[in-house]
Amino acid sequence: MRTLLIAGNWKLNPASTEAAAALADDVKNGLGPATDVHVVLAPPFVFLSRIDQALENSPIGLGGQDLHWETSGAYTGEVSAPMLVDVGCTHVIIGHSERRHGMGETNEQVNAKLKAALAAKLIPIVCIGETKDERLGEKAEAVLLEQLAGSLAGLTAEEAAGVVLAYEPVWAIGTGLTATPEQAQAVHAFIRRWLSETFGEATAARIVVQYGGSVKPDNAAELLACPDIDGALVGGAALKAADFLAIIKAGQEVTARGKS
Ligand code: PEP
Repeated sequence: MRTLLIAGNWKLNPASTEAAAALADDVKNGLGPATDVHVVLAPPFVFLSRIDQALENSPIGLGGQDLHWETSGAYTGEVSAPMLVDVGCTHVIIGHSERRHGMGETNEQVNAKLKAALAAKLIPIVCIGETKDERLGEKAEAVLLEQLAGSLAGLTAEEAAGVVLAYEPVWAIGTGLTATPEQAQAVHAFIRRWLSETFGEATAARIVVQYGGSVKPDNAAELLACPDIDGALVGGAALKAADFLAIIKAGQEVTARGKS
């Protein structure tokens, strides 16, 4: 079984360094020194150094929410992969739907960012997912195929094995709507088939594919128990330590039980 990865995407929250450090402390103290699921917190860039300090001596990884593909130069407002590593990051989220749809990020840009992350030895969490209209228009699979092929273009199987994917149906993000475990599992199996055809079965079996979209304490256990769902990318519920810890606990219980 692949090790589950539960990642908290804090987006543009919380409002202060103090509140961010308090949230990280609460997650760290609630989790304790060891865990059999991987946990990552992805705060806004400006809090990364402080959260890195807060997470010292804990198994929790630190993630950026984005990066630029260049390492330096005239790119106002951007942050590079080596900069993220320098402030303690282990992971980076790439191609979140709020960037794809809100900021016009393309598959080509996602691909360039992914290669920059891999070159810096950051673990990329690459987000893909269809909109409501695309799902209703029965275009979800075509959109996912385009995002997969474009985002992962040019990767070797070994590189692909080090990528985390997050399937996040856009209609489920921040809306309170969640894909049912059956809906999510069907898409995850579709993604794994594509990975297998593209990179080989052994590599596909190693790639962690998270689900994201209104994951909460009350739906996490069912989603995480699905055979091809290897964790969760959590937005809103990651801002409350108790909720995020409950989702991690659901992952730990699934891990202890094993999947069928
Ligand atoms: C996300 O930000 O990736 C996300 C899934 O948000 P939420 O859990 O709030 O839907």
